[in-house]
Amino acid sequence: MADTQMTPGVIAGRLPPDAYAENFADLHPPLDRHEAAVAADRCYFCHDAPCITACPTDIDIPLFIRQISTGTPESAAMTIFDMNILGGMCARVCPTETLCEEACVREAAEGKPVEIGRLQRYATDTLMDRPHPYTRSKPTGRTVAVIGAGPAGLACAHRLAMLGHGVTVFEARPKSGGLNEYGIASYKTPDGFAQKEVEWLLSIGGITIRHNKQVGRDISLATLRKDHDAVFIGIGLGATNALDIEGSDLPGVEDAVDFIARLRQSDDPATLPIGRDVVVIGGGMTAVDAAVQSRLLGAQTVTMVYRREAERMNASLFERELAQTNGVRIITGAVPVRVTGQNRVEAVEFAYAVQDGGALRPGPDRFTLPADQVLRAIGQSMVPITNDPADAIEQDGASLLTGPGGRTAPHGNVFAGGDCTATGENLTVTAVAQGRDAAMEIHATLMGDG
Ligand SMILES: Cc1cc2nc3c(=O)[nH]c(=O)nc-3n(C[C@H](O)[C@H](O)[C@H](O)COP(=O)(O)OP(=O)(O)OC[C@H]3O[C@@H](n4cnc5c(N)ncnc54)[C@H](O)[C@@H]3O)c2cc1C
Ligand code: SF4
Repeated sequence: MADTQMTPGVIAGRLPPDAYAENFADLHPPLDRHEAAVAADRCYFCHDAPCITACPTDIDIPLFIRQISTGTPESAAMTIFDMNILGGMCARVCPTETLCEEACVREAAEGKPVEIGRLQRYATDTLMDRPHPYTRSKPTGRTVAVIGAGPAGLACAHRLAMLGHGVTVFEARPKSGGLNEYGIASYKTPDGFAQKEVEWLLSIGGITIRHNKQVGRDISLATLRKDHDAVFIGIGLGATNALDIEGSDLPGVEDAVDFIARLRQSDDPATLPIGRDVVVIGGGMTAVDAAVQSRLLGAQTVTMVYRREAERMNASLFERELAQTNGVRIITGAVPVRVTGQNRVEAVEFAYAVQDGGALRPGPDRFTLPADQVLRAIGQSMVPITNDPADAIEQDGASLLTGPGGRTAPHGNVFAGGDCTATGENLTVTAVAQGRDAAMEIHATLMGDG
């Protein structure tokens, strides 16, 4: 008999073969020309538009929407790319409901914003299959090392290349893209879009990527500083926080980020083993993505458990609703106290949390959830690129401390941006903005204006 959602254990192929393609299809399918014209027509082209202020990359949103209205989506795309070279990815993954669309005056007036994200995708898609629209300035003879080929590193590298500098990117993984390639949910960026976008971005020229080169292991920061005029660090958050409770090392308990990366790198989701009863611990975007994708892979029950109240989750209301409409049960105000099982996980015991001064601690009321798979999504942290105190970068807590333009201390000419910095908001668009701004600061410094 074929396996189904009811089959116990962690197994592949719980769903009928054709269900996977449908489940992992585009979350927000592209607008066609007519739909885009109708959506663009709703924009008031506000003076001092609040949507621009809410966009971390300061895209002139009313301008690009007007360009769509007037039938020139290619110009709209350039308005976007001038500020955000990863505008195609951001159109797919930005939580617009908490950024530009939340600020849109039509959201305040009618509870229905202009569909800025989908319009941005409509515009940017027009140029993705065409030759790269930017050219490089005359070579400056200066070289910059970029550490990490995620959104921050790629945005920085592209802007530096445009300005005529030579860029070498050192990337620990075999592919570029950072979490665009290994983290973001499959249904937000299907059909290999992340790699397609990287190839398109690199076709400006002047950027060399050295994959499988981990700075700190294969090459030191000191060497990069010596060999280049400037260094940009965009290493993201490489470590996941541990679940420090009894039984958390049982087989079947794993990082949600690893689970998602496996899914993103798979050519066929039908081959991915998934539990019948999955428990996801956490309340952010990673937790929602892991929970929703577990359901889409065929888990019969998926329960997300978060320690505080729903309003304090990092996942937006839209994402929480996405989880719920996909059949994920969300329990709030509870903390895990024990993972149980004979040779692998069988259940997780939780306690309803009680306030103890400023802290939360497990209270007396307990409940147990059956689980054959447990996904930890309780936060990530930066892995420093050096253990050598002489080479270290000043930190703010566990993140890199940056000043204007992403400057770090104590070494001159070392800059940083994205999730690894204390000002990173753990969003793709913020990483892009910080990479771009650091490139401008590096350029000003190298050309003697900084
Ligand atoms: C599961 C998940 C889902 C998410 N979903 C969304 C979403 O829907 N929308 C959104 O806006 N944001 C989302 N985010 C957040 C977003 O992905 C990040 O904010 C963004 O990728 C940060 O970009 P970055 O360039 O700073 O870091 P990263 O994307 O993490 O890239 C860092 C790169 O540096 C490399 N690297 C690390 N250390 C070294 C080293 N020592 N040497 C060389 N290379 C190194 C890494 O391999 C990686 O390629 C999500 C995050 C996760 C984990
Ligand atoms: S706030 Fe809304 S209506 Fe006003 S310019 Fe921006 S998208 Fe258009």
